[in-house]
This record gives sequence, structure tokens and C-alpha cells, in this order.
Amino acid sequence: MQRRGEFRVSVTKDYLVFASAHFVTFAGHRCEGLHGHNYRAHVTVEGALDEESWLVFDFVVLKRIMRRLCEEIDHKVLLPLHNPKLQVEEEGESVTVAYEGKPRYVFPRVDCALLPVPNTTVEMLAELLTCRLRAELQTKGARGLTAIEMEIEENFGQSAIYRVPLP
Ligand SMILES: [Zn+2]
Repeated sequence: MQRRGEFRVSVTKDYLVFASAHFVTFAGHRCEGLHGHNYRAHVTVEGALDEESWLVFDFVVLKRIMRRLCEEIDHKVLLPLHNPKLQVEEEGESVTVAYEGKPRYVFPRVDCALLPVPNTTVEMLAELLTCRLRAELQTKGARGLTAIEMEIEENFGQSAIYRVPLP
């Protein structure tokens, strides 16, 4: 049988969620108040069929990695480290957040996830989780994968999708 199509495998599970707080800054001088979402991750990997196992990638491994990535930011305040309008600083057991130089929040350090992103939009969360998944897949020696696609939903019917081809 000649195979002309391509395969991709996809995972979204009840436990691939993170209930987290955040706020987004917008263009100009607008900054949201703190609020939360029950985010859900949906990941797809594309690639060549492994012709010993006849699968693209092992679901068990993919689910395990994604579960850990979600748990890392579950029940946390998600704070961006690279937002020029926000000053996020660790001070002992606390994290202080100022917006355009004015103090706004103080959180316990243990309740924060300090993320290397410019804003905690679902777009940036999708890209960040893709980067983290990709690094994990590399350490697991995953071969033959050609792309990762990550969808992060922050509300029913409201999500961002990031797709990156793998070299
Ligand atoms: Zn929000």
C-alpha cells in the first residue's frame, strides 16, 4: 500500500487544564484587572510514522509531558517578565508588580509563575508551552516529528493556536 497522506496525533484531556490568574496590558495605557480562567491545552504533533510501532508519537509520553507543563502553572498568578509596561520584581518571599511605575500588586512568591513572555495572552501562553514541550521532546529523543501545534483555550470557543514546524 502506498501511503500518500500524512498523520498527526492530538491530545486534549480533562487534566490538561490550568486554573490560573492573569491580566493583560493593551496598546496605549490600558491594563486589565486581575482575573482568572480555566485554561485548556490541546496539542497536536505531526510527523513521520515510525515503521516499527506504526505510530507518530506515543500518547502516553505526550500526555505525561503536557500534564506536567500544565501543573507547573496551575493555581498560579501568571506574570510576564518581558513586558515593558510592567515591573515584576522578586523581593524575598514576595513578588511586587508595578504598572508604568505605579505599585499595583504584591503576591506571595510561591503563588506566582514568572514567565519569559511579553504578555500573558493565550497567544504567548501557546508559544511558551510549545517551546517547553519541544525541549522535553528533544530530551526524550523524539525523532521524525515535523510540527507541533498548540491550542490554548481560555474560555469556551475562545482560543489561540500556535504552530511551529520542526527542522
Ligand atoms: Zn483573561
